[in-house]
Amino acid sequence: MPPPLVIAIDGPSASGKGSTSRELARRLGFLHVDTGAMYRALTWHCQQAGLIPNDADGRELTPAEQASVAQACETWPVELLARAGHLVVAVGGQVPDAELRSTAVTSYVARVSHVPAVREWMLGFQRGCAQFGSLVMDGRDIGTRIFRETPCKFFLHAREDVRAKRGQNDGHGGGVARRDLIDQDLNQPAADAVLIDTSEHSVAEIVEQVLALIRQRQQPEAGAAV
Ligand code: C5P
Repeated sequence: MPPPLVIAIDGPSASGKGSTSRELARRLGFLHVDTGAMYRALTWHCQQAGLIPNDADGRELTPAEQASVAQACETWPVELLARAGHLVVAVGGQVPDAELRSTAVTSYVARVSHVPAVREWMLGFQRGCAQFGSLVMDGRDIGTRIFRETPCKFFLHAREDVRAKRGQNDGHGGGVARRDLIDQDLNQPAADAVLIDTSEHSVAEIVEQVLALIRQRQQPEAGAAV
């Protein structure tokens, strides 16, 4: 059996990486992993536990709040489940879904994701996803950090007006410009990533482009054939 292949689809919010990576995973028969949902699930859990504010302010977290979020990483009842082509997180046996797109979660998720201990914890957790098989991972730092060894890295981006419009419609609670500011350190492509401007293209077109590039880039020894 070849080792699992991880395809990294990185990019800022509303760049089209979510729909592209879901369709790509479906076409390849790989599991789709939404790593943003993991940060959202942790944020939701911390809000339910009263560790951080549960409002729309999105203010900076105090050092004490950051410390309790770091502590929560070590103790929260999280597990990974493969479900209908996706690898999802269950918290306390429940798979949160609509909860993850609430305004309160969207307002604080970038604050939580910038706690250094959270990024460290996510590194181990997300690398562990490969035990489930080949993956299409949608995120920000998959190609630069989590699976930097993968030969298949893509960085999707789009014009600001297009992203603002998609942000309103994609159920992630909008606030694209605000989150961009906090996430600007993360929204950087790996040096060896293929950059794709999705502004004027349909998901189907981008998926075809990515599939063609994967076939070109993939070395036989790099993992599962696609
Ligand atoms: O992709 P999504 O908008 O759901 O991501 C929510 C937040 O999670 C981002 O704004 C970012 O702060 C964080 N994130 C991250 N690293 C990832 C994916 C998301 O820090 N790989």
